[in-house]
Amino acid sequence: MEGRTEHCCIVCGQQKTEGMVIVNQFICSGCEQEMVHTDVKDDKYPFYVHQLKRLWLQLQA
Ligand SMILES: [Zn+2]
Repeated sequence: MEGRTEHCCIVCGQQKTEGMVIVNQFICSGCEQEMVHTDVKDDKYPFYVHQLKRLWLQLQA
């Protein structure tokens, strides 16, 4: 047992074990990498920003 709990990624919505948890919200390592490499002009960028906004809102609460 290594505590490999499955979490539901808030970005892709899939169950993953690898990733990071911010304010009880999980982002899988795959999405984290994609976000890092996504250009601001990329079509996917607004989607990531939208998903992350939910985290920022919780941080401010
Ligand atoms: Zn993901």
